[in-house]
Amino acid sequence: MNPNQVIGEENPFEAMHARFDLAANKLGLDQGLYRILRTPDRELTVAIPVYMDDGSLQVFTGYRVQHSLARGPAKGGIRYDPNVTIDEVRALAAWMTWKCAVVNVPFGGGKGGVVCSPSKLSMGEMERITRRYVANILDIIGPDRDVPAPDMGTNGQVMAWIMDTYSMHVRKASTAVVTGKPVGLGGSLGRIEATGRGLQICAREALKMMGRDPKTCTAAVQGAGNVGQVTAMYLDQMGVKVCAISDITGAIVDEKGLDVTAVRTHLAKFRTLEGYGEGDRITNAQLLELPVDILVPAATENVINSRNAANIKAKLLVEGANGPVTAAADKLLDEKGVFVVPDILANAGGVSVSYFEWVQDRMGYFWTEKEVDDRLEAMMTKAFSDVVDMARRFEVSNRIAAYLLGIDRVAKITRMRGIYA
Ligand code: NAD
Repeated sequence: MNPNQVIGEENPFEAMHARFDLAANKLGLDQGLYRILRTPDRELTVAIPVYMDDGSLQVFTGYRVQHSLARGPAKGGIRYDPNVTIDEVRALAAWMTWKCAVVNVPFGGGKGGVVCSPSKLSMGEMERITRRYVANILDIIGPDRDVPAPDMGTNGQVMAWIMDTYSMHVRKASTAVVTGKPVGLGGSLGRIEATGRGLQICAREALKMMGRDPKTCTAAVQGAGNVGQVTAMYLDQMGVKVCAISDITGAIVDEKGLDVTAVRTHLAKFRTLEGYGEGDRITNAQLLELPVDILVPAATENVINSRNAANIKAKLLVEGANGPVTAAADKLLDEKGVFVVPDILANAGGVSVSYFEWVQDRMGYFWTEKEVDDRLEAMMTKAFSDVVDMARRFEVSNRIAAYLLGIDRVAKITRMRGIYA
């Protein structure tokens, strides 16, 4: 066994708690607030009976967790994945609370999940699962209550079904109930690109601090979905040589640099990296340990952990996924001097433009792509500098600094609102 290995580090909710405890302690948070902010406000588990295409009746399990409603309606994506668990959804909901506070958008944190394998479902089955899931969580969502968005395994089409199902129930078109919708159905220009664009802004700001020119840097990206693919595109545009990218089937690597446009064209056509002609094939685990300057984990949780953190060679880690690094790995990365842009800052471009979408839906007035992009740029650069200032002030890692910033903002509002009894 690896001497660094920590048993049980893979529970994302415990990983969130481990960082929360460190930050709460640094902040000197009082015991009452500590208890409130550590615990989700509300959790709903629903059974989703659905007729499958073969005529059988299956029952899927769905969750919606609202971690905090202190700063505004809950906000957070819906994940369709066979490995979804309640603890994962709890962690993702709490991370949304801190993330929304880090970029200072007036939302709390929520998250949803359905235990299913989207790649094995037909469109009709996906639609029926989505509509019944929405009908079952209808009482707790809404533009002023809880506003879902896409996450792993869901996309603009799923958001359109959510909007339609909710609208049918409330007897009026309600576009602001969900974000990440197609443009034309109340979606915002720039939303699809927003998370990757935010990651690029963070990478640019971090490289500036490290005194590095992007044009001399190499990168590896784990995940080729919405976040990974778009981040690879923006890094490439910034002059970074993207040497590797992966999906669930494994990675492709070329130390001379991949043709990112050709990779994206292949993905648009086949929805998998399999069959892509150029470069060599390696595993997802090997991708993480490549000798590149920038590493972007943009797939799933726990991929950097006590077993492999010591082998990471990148000097800059920009976290596209939520929770890609376990709490046990934090210390190992710190010891190696890796500059970490933590998930609740790095991937906050998505929720920032989701906020812009919600604002536009409520105004019924839509912005140009440039307006969206300029506002995103301002929001992300401010959040980045707030986090690194906090890290300097408290002499902590960027991750704990981001937690400090988020928790402090939520704690202040909670104190101001008081306890309704
Ligand atoms: P997606 O479903 O579009 O893509 C996921 C990608 O990861 C796919 O290429 C898939 O093949 C790959 N993948 C899945 N499981 C894997 C595994 N075990 N090992 C290696 N690769 C694997 O999802 P997405 O929207 O790009 O989300 C990716 C991550 O980013 C998630 O952690 C999500 O919570 C986070 N995130 C997404 C957004 C957003 O706007 N979509 C915003 C913030 C954070």
